[in-house]
Amino acid sequence: MDNRDPHVVILPFPAQGHIKPMLMLAELLSQAGLAISFVNTEHSHRRLLDGAAFRRRCPGINFLTIPDGLPPDHPRSGPGIVDLLLSTSTACEPNFKDLIASMSHAPACIISDGIMSFAVDVAAELGIPAIAFRTYSATATWTYFHLEKLMEEIPVVANAESEELERRVRCVPGLEDILRQRDFPQLCSLGPRSPIMQFYITQAAKMRNASALILNTFHHLEAPMLSRLRSIFPAVYAVGPLRSPASSTSTSLLQMDQSCIHWLDSQPPGSVLYVSFGSVAVLTPDHLMEFWHGLVNSGSPFLWAIRPDLIRDADSLATLPVPEEMRTSERGRIVGWAPQEEVLAHDAVGGFLTHCGWNSILESVWAGKPMICRPLVAEQQVNGRCASEMWGLGFDLNCVCDRSTVERVVRDLMEGSGKQGILRSTAEMARLARDSVRDGGSSHTSLNSLVADIKMLHAKAQNSPSN
Ligand code: UDP
Repeated sequence: MDNRDPHVVILPFPAQGHIKPMLMLAELLSQAGLAISFVNTEHSHRRLLDGAAFRRRCPGINFLTIPDGLPPDHPRSGPGIVDLLLSTSTACEPNFKDLIASMSHAPACIISDGIMSFAVDVAAELGIPAIAFRTYSATATWTYFHLEKLMEEIPVVANAESEELERRVRCVPGLEDILRQRDFPQLCSLGPRSPIMQFYITQAAKMRNASALILNTFHHLEAPMLSRLRSIFPAVYAVGPLRSPASSTSTSLLQMDQSCIHWLDSQPPGSVLYVSFGSVAVLTPDHLMEFWHGLVNSGSPFLWAIRPDLIRDADSLATLPVPEEMRTSERGRIVGWAPQEEVLAHDAVGGFLTHCGWNSILESVWAGKPMICRPLVAEQQVNGRCASEMWGLGFDLNCVCDRSTVERVVRDLMEGSGKQGILRSTAEMARLARDSVRDGGSSHTSLNSLVADIKMLHAKAQNSPSN
């Protein structure tokens, strides 16, 4: 690392959906001539499969680690994610502070994940500018700044009747006609005093102290929400969709099963539905079976990524009393972890049944594939609502997952009469996404501004009297 280059420390939350976009940003900043220290937790660093390949490709990125405060064998996905959220927010801060204070090459700024906001405090203590990177959509980020008001407006959603769930939520400016009570089932049922709700409220409050915000989104997709976020942050950089020029294996924490690409090669164009619930969410065995029967009954071939810890209270698919066909069927192909971006880019894939994690939505947008939205946790409901209702990129399963609804919605997407309209919207959005990262596109320009602003911070620090 050359001490004359501006030095940026990047700190992601230790989960797949956070590490991946922040690594992709790190790569772009490194290509722009900045020296990068990428701070993973020890546990994530061990899991980053192709870390060595990444290091070879990006010699300007230096990988460092801190402990996450949990024992090595503690589960960190599914319900275990809550322990990880709470643990990182307390255990990481002293180690992170020591790490930064010991750096001989002083950072020009710290880019910290919006849910690792202790780093904003550390930066302030050490006199270093902090920039927040929120891996959510702009819409969900804006919504999370209104959690306390949401709590007041919808105190207990869990027991509400379905009519009540359809009622519009009024307290998030700009989204009065979009968000319904049913878009907040998980968070709001926890109540304002639950540790996890307090966690999100604190994270949002601390994040406000950052001098700027980076988002993995693009102007055409979320312009109104980006402009609202500019009322909180002096600068907002929308730099997405962040894409790695190399294969996605280098940013994956799990081993990808590439064999499904050969299987896709043998399927007719547009015929296969790809199904994935991301890296954290879990399904009950009953829900899994409802999805399975709905998919089989739809008649479409499907490729389903069932990671070993997707199923609640089961060690793996192998230990469940599932029909033998589920393991052997040629029409329903199951893999543990798919090369998702390659899958979505494949001609044989005609749709994506998704849990609406933000990376998955953006990857689907990029590939121009229509979605069936079945959000499960966190901000996924908000993303699903945007994808289906605001952007017209797919259908909403409306939190239902009985087999007949799954079958009907899959048929509608794969062969229904509304398909052509959705395909026109997905093709147009894919074009806008690609235009945004081209030379002169909005995200490209925003990234250049971010680089220029970091270089300015560096120059300012170099010229300060204490240096
Ligand atoms: N992913 C993957 N293979 C899979 C399932 C998911 O590579 O079988 C990747 C996907 O491409 C995405 C990330 O894992 O980049 C999941 O992030 P997302 O924000 O969609 O959801 P999360 O896992 O955070 O809930």
